[in-house]
Amino acid sequence: MKKDTVIRFMIMIASLAVASYLACILTPMQSDISQEKNFLTKAPVAGLHKFFADVAWMRFINFAGGLSSIDSTNVDKVSRMLEKIIAYDPNFVESYQSGVLSISNADPKLAVKLLEQACANPHLAHNIQIPFYAGFILSRTIVDQNNPDKILSEPDYAAAARFFRMAIQRTRDPESYLISNYIHAKAKARGGEESLAVLSVLYDEWKMSKAGKDEIYSDYCQIPDIEERLVKATREAKYPIDDEGRLLKPSQKALELIAKVQQEILFKKHLCENCVTPAAPGDKFCGTCGHAVKTWGVCSCGHILSSKAYCTRCGKKQ
Ligand SMILES: [Zn+2]
Ligand SMILES: [Zn+2]
Repeated sequence: MKKDTVIRFMIMIASLAVASYLACILTPMQSDISQEKNFLTKAPVAGLHKFFADVAWMRFINFAGGLSSIDSTNVDKVSRMLEKIIAYDPNFVESYQSGVLSISNADPKLAVKLLEQACANPHLAHNIQIPFYAGFILSRTIVDQNNPDKILSEPDYAAAARFFRMAIQRTRDPESYLISNYIHAKAKARGGEESLAVLSVLYDEWKMSKAGKDEIYSDYCQIPDIEERLVKATREAKYPIDDEGRLLKPSQKALELIAKVQQEILFKKHLCENCVTPAAPGDKFCGTCGHAVKTWGVCSCGHILSSKAYCTRCGKKQ
């Protein structure tokens, strides 16, 4: 054997030893310092996990798409396939958005669990649909399709509201459906008269936005159209209707809250105290219910003002 062959062979052995030493020492250290450990793939070869996830996803679509419905008879198999995809690639958005949703009627608890894990994944921190779906599943009663007497999951409105809130927090410009779902889930969690609960939720939101605080997140995200929502909720609390659409009398509690909201928030909107309809400039009585209203929008000269900067009759600056 040539001398340099022996040397090369020895260098190779030495570098293998160093490599395995580093692998043994560094890998646990890396895992210790990695805070995202739970969101890393469980696949052995880095980079290849996305390919594995894609293949598993195609198999999933083929299998689940071929089923007429995902129900108690096949949900275990479908769920296992889905969990495998998520284990390969926890950042694979499709597996949550369509995958998890497809099992939500057959195994709502597992669906919520998987979505909750995804909500905590920093790589998916800007995804709005994932917390929305979790809230959506949690705000419904879900029964077994093969056995309608068997309830798979009861609504948990408080938890649903937390997920809807998270979805709102994730966007600068939350869409109306997100806000409505959040407010209704929170109102349902409070219980009692629904229209009163909705109004009290909105009133609290308004107060929190003034205080700049949120019960869950430190950076408060204000509901953009809260005053319009308050006007509508005030009207609905004033004229509550039952399930058949019959008009009910508002409770004393509702009337107290309505008065508070009118005084503190809606006074700028010039609403009729009786029926919550906006009064036009110069009105002395409400056009809807005939109740006396506080007149506004009139110049000292008596001219009814338009939205211009100066009175068009006497020229006074408004
Ligand atoms: Zn009125
Ligand atoms: Zn004037």
